[in-house]
Amino acid sequence: MAFLVSSTCPECGAPTKHHEGALTFKCQYCASVLRMQAEGMTLKYIIPARLDEKAAALAIKKLLVNRKITPVTKVKKVTVIYDPFWNLRGMLFYLVAGDGKAEISAKTWFHSFQANETFLPSFTSLGIQSQVLELEHYDAEKFPKSAVLLPTTLIEKDALKAAKKAATAAMDMDGKRPGFSDLKMVGEKLSIIYYPVISVVCEGETGYHTIMVDGVNGNLLAEEAGRIETQGIGESDTVAVPPKLITHRCPNCGHNLKDGDFDLTFHCGECRRLWMLKDNDYASIKINAIRPMERGGAYIPFWRFKLEISSGEGSDVISKIGDRAKIMKGVGFKLRNEDPERDITFYVPAIVTRNASGLLSLAIRINIFQKDLPPSDGEAMPDGEAFGLSLAEEEAREMLEPLVFAVTGRIDAKMIAFYNNIQIEVKKSDIVWYPVSFEKDMLVDRYHEYHFPKRWLDTDVY
Ligand SMILES: [Zn+2]
Ligand SMILES: [Zn+2]
Repeated sequence: MAFLVSSTCPECGAPTKHHEGALTFKCQYCASVLRMQAEGMTLKYIIPARLDEKAAALAIKKLLVNRKITPVTKVKKVTVIYDPFWNLRGMLFYLVAGDGKAEISAKTWFHSFQANETFLPSFTSLGIQSQVLELEHYDAEKFPKSAVLLPTTLIEKDALKAAKKAATAAMDMDGKRPGFSDLKMVGEKLSIIYYPVISVVCEGETGYHTIMVDGVNGNLLAEEAGRIETQGIGESDTVAVPPKLITHRCPNCGHNLKDGDFDLTFHCGECRRLWMLKDNDYASIKINAIRPMERGGAYIPFWRFKLEISSGEGSDVISKIGDRAKIMKGVGFKLRNEDPERDITFYVPAIVTRNASGLLSLAIRINIFQKDLPPSDGEAMPDGEAFGLSLAEEEAREMLEPLVFAVTGRIDAKMIAFYNNIQIEVKKSDIVWYPVSFEKDMLVDRYHEYHFPKRWLDTDVY
């Protein structure tokens, strides 16, 4: 997936490119680190038509000759129409229990689908070719008056529902109905992409014909008898202007902060403070780190949740480590050295990665043992680099159910009933930095003696 967006650098005025959805990035020309003030808005992009009126008319004539569609002689009118598509990326976790098994499938998912459901019903997805195209931020003020902008008929809330349905269908390959199944979308991002379609009204011996072609490659999309005029809606958009681009600096000392694509947290190299992007501004956050077992290495951000797990009315509430025997398989061995009176604590990796299944494996390993991990002394991050946090708290909460399900591992009828009504309440949450050591391309969690590939944490979810 390679959607690139072009923008203009506010520092040097040069055109610059960044990954779709990136919050911070470097100007390729002057190397300024820039921040997109895009939080809380649905980003809207446009792929400009590559064919102008003349080229479109020519393409149509060629098409007609080649395909012998209709005896058309004259091109009467050419209109560029911008057709909106929802574009989604995120991690999927599909939970299934029944028929003697309990499993989770995890993957990072990309999906595009119609945001206007009435126009060109057969044009359902942006497909492969659009991924190498460059996007521009949609700007109502710069939108050409002669072009038509189609309204978004599928609103965001329904788009998410539709995406979830499509994702479930994609995951549930065998189509069986197990005793329990659930799909969680975690860290998903939705944006709108306006794709160019060129409508050409032609006149021939048998009357008018309207022909629609792809505005990028000139391929035929539809051909109908009659003169079809597509009505636009002008400025339908709540977000008519692109998000603002500003320089990315420490609000405390003014030092330049590093760029980090989708990261939400930034360490200042100068004053050592930790910042988190919140409401398009910087919020100072406390550094909680777990003491490393050896010097060097790196830190991975996790959301740490204290939980109460229950399942509908009258069910036991599981909140202490000792309670876990009630729902967990092989609990004696895994929790043998832990104080049964300690609160159940779950760690969710605060990263949207390209390797959702790797991330899940890492999280299962840490959560299954419920170890009491010692806090580091002091406020500053101990030496070592820190991975950026790219999964917001609300999204991390979505991953609790898959994790509870994964560490439980039971598939008896009683547990299936439990999963079907599961309620997970967060009593306390914070961010904690988890120490790992480097070993070539592997990272090592010394607390759990767990080696895993560094690429599991790759965040290039473009
Ligand atoms: Zn620049
Ligand atoms: Zn600073």
